[in-house]
Amino acid sequence: MAVFKCAACGAILEARCKPAKCKSCGAEKDKLVKEAAPKKG
Ligand SMILES: [Zn+2]
Repeated sequence: MAVFKCAACGAILEARCKPAKCKSCGAEKDKLVKEAAPKKG
């Protein structure tokens, strides 16, 4: 599970792969930045 943070609204999205859009504000994936995963594996 990877964690992505929306640079537009700050929402945290958890997904196995990069979401197409921010679920919170609808920003395109260009705005989603991969964050450090909470745990490895
Ligand atoms: Zn957003």
